[in-house]
Amino acid sequence: MDKQQEYVFRAIEERDIRFIRLWFSDVLGQLKSVAIAPAEVEGAFEEGIGFDGSAIEGLTRVFEADMLLSPDPSTFQMLPWRNGTNGVARMFCDVLTPDGEPARTDPRAVLERQLARVADAGFTCYVHPEIEFYLVKRDEAGRIQPTDYAGYFDHVPGGTAHEFRRRACLMLEQMGISVEFSHHEGGPGQNEIDLRFADALSMADNIMTFRAVVEEVALQEGCLATFMPKPFVDQPGSGMHTHFSLFEGDRNAFYDPSGQYQLSSTGRSFIAGLLRHANEISAVTNQHVNSYKRLWGGGEAPSYVCWGHNNRSALVRVPMHKPGKGQSVRVEYRSLDPAANPYLAYAVILAAGLKGIEEGYELPPEAEDDVWALTEGERQALGIGALPTSLKSAVAAMSGSDLVADTLGEAAFEFFMRNKRREFMAYDAQVTDYEINQFFPRS
Ligand code: GLU
Ligand code: MG
Ligand code: MG
Repeated sequence: MDKQQEYVFRAIEERDIRFIRLWFSDVLGQLKSVAIAPAEVEGAFEEGIGFDGSAIEGLTRVFEADMLLSPDPSTFQMLPWRNGTNGVARMFCDVLTPDGEPARTDPRAVLERQLARVADAGFTCYVHPEIEFYLVKRDEAGRIQPTDYAGYFDHVPGGTAHEFRRRACLMLEQMGISVEFSHHEGGPGQNEIDLRFADALSMADNIMTFRAVVEEVALQEGCLATFMPKPFVDQPGSGMHTHFSLFEGDRNAFYDPSGQYQLSSTGRSFIAGLLRHANEISAVTNQHVNSYKRLWGGGEAPSYVCWGHNNRSALVRVPMHKPGKGQSVRVEYRSLDPAANPYLAYAVILAAGLKGIEEGYELPPEAEDDVWALTEGERQALGIGALPTSLKSAVAAMSGSDLVADTLGEAAFEFFMRNKRREFMAYDAQVTDYEINQFFPRS
């Protein structure tokens, strides 16, 4: 038994834990959970816990339904909203086939595989996300309304927002997830919490936990949290901008004091990879029909494929860093939204950036203007293309992508596209209030 497993057994004993939830993700990023009794934990470490994979979105085909959950002891944490006696803890799991092989469509395995490629190339990847979401309530008529009418960085006296963020941040810290900033965002009821950097796998786990914590705290505060990318037509959407850096040992491989914005040639090629492959990875980073309403609905979400320094209209940004802090040079990818599957999204973004490094892609010049304000002709002259405008066009771009097929693996790639085609076809078949209002005769 290794040290981490020993720690789990000791913690279960000392903290009177009665339920251990085994957490994993389906292909769409939905958190799945099964609780086991303390007496089952040893067997879970040794042989895994069996479950019916065919009942989980995208996990297996029916003829290979039996799957195993293998808990990762390093992810053991108490659930703070279940504190007190009869405690509850959780561990994230890898999904295995009955012969102990990683399941082909386990999103965590997809990211682990991609991170092994990053490691083979000599790098460790650190990420930190800025996660935006709305707090909403239902009014008497059952309509969704934001919990306040405040804006960016507003101090809301006596509002839900402060108490909410305080509780959410404390709960995240209790679960070992460090928070760097939290504030009111631009939309009414919109909030943002930024997590301190961690390696990409821990961060994807953290994002799954984050969504569960935020939903839980919202319920305690009598409201609902939504990670929907664009809940209100005339308000900014919610993004999950993520900052990436690659380290070679202790050295930030994106840092070169003599480079433009102190960005190294490795960093430049990484960005070039993100730009070249942005469209084909879009269906994964922005996986819902609603995601494209955010990307094309203003509110500082990126619509065009370009990079910049302090340019908020760019898809990729090289944010400012404090003088002398070369270690913090990083690349911010801004299209990603908080309804994505974080394992798959980080896997495809890293695959795109790594491809740029391996193939030595040249970085095109930065966009200095507000690209939303340019004419189509001006953008064309600058070589600035557009992100997909709908899930349908994003899936079309993904369907021809060797990069995405190779990163997700054939089974997850095929499942994902089938599922997304179903989503946009069901959506396209709707007759909306907008159409009724436009076309019905008015009396
Ligand atoms: N809410 C914006 C988005 O959807 C981002 C605003 C910001 O720059 O933080 O991407
Ligand atoms: Mg923000
Ligand atoms: Mg940002």
